[in-house]
Amino acid sequence: MPINVPGILVPLHLLINPRLIVPSLVVKGPSIKDIRQLDFPELYRAGYRGAVFDKDNCLTLPHQDRLVPELTEAWKECRQTFGEGNVLIVSNTAGSHLDAGDIQAESVTYHLSAPVLRHPSFKPSYACIASIRAYFGSLPTPVRDDELVIVGDRILTDVVLANRMARRNKPQEIAPPNGEKMTDVRKAGPLTVLTEDVWRRESTVLRWMEKGMLRGVERWVLPAHELSARQELRRFVRDLPVSEVSEKREGLWQKLWRTLRKP
Ligand SMILES: [Mg+2]
Repeated sequence: MPINVPGILVPLHLLINPRLIVPSLVVKGPSIKDIRQLDFPELYRAGYRGAVFDKDNCLTLPHQDRLVPELTEAWKECRQTFGEGNVLIVSNTAGSHLDAGDIQAESVTYHLSAPVLRHPSFKPSYACIASIRAYFGSLPTPVRDDELVIVGDRILTDVVLANRMARRNKPQEIAPPNGEKMTDVRKAGPLTVLTEDVWRRESTVLRWMEKGMLRGVERWVLPAHELSARQELRRFVRDLPVSEVSEKREGLWQKLWRTLRKP
């Protein structure tokens, strides 16, 4: 298994900046199960002009090149909304230095009808960020970092990559509802979206640790007014169809019980 050195070094960066692992759509606030919950036309109306997607367990099953069938309509709507060249797949498998001859990248581009970034170093490295910027900067209408939506299913790669692209705004005085004046130090950068459902289990322990870290940072580091300000992002989140929600909430034992009770 290849070693993701930039990923291994992330915990050191977290000691300095723990907010790096917090997506824009946070677990305590509006959360996303999969990309069907993203309202792409609303994101476009809000000024977002491009999107970056992780591949494995976000669009496809791990190490496969075809779109998960349930995502067909959402994926089509996304590409139609932002335009063909403005939706980019950035994967630590397809298009990375492990993808000899770009064979997997070509296959994914063919099946998903979207370009796959060729990049020299794994997410969340700064070299990978430079490749993303170079791609969107070279479009006929260049797309800035803060006009991007970055979507992935892993905190220590996808979310950290997106948050590393953010730049600090000039601190602004804000007055939350309790009247106490505070300084808003939020950064300007991509909208970071963490998809929480996995299509096939992998790296279960790592995911569990990542979620634990995120819950800790949300609880101990993020001020309450920042979490409540993120509620405004709910307008970008759609509900999943009711049938999907009940199916997903049903555990293994409930499924077994339902099957056994069938006449
Ligand atoms: Mg993934």
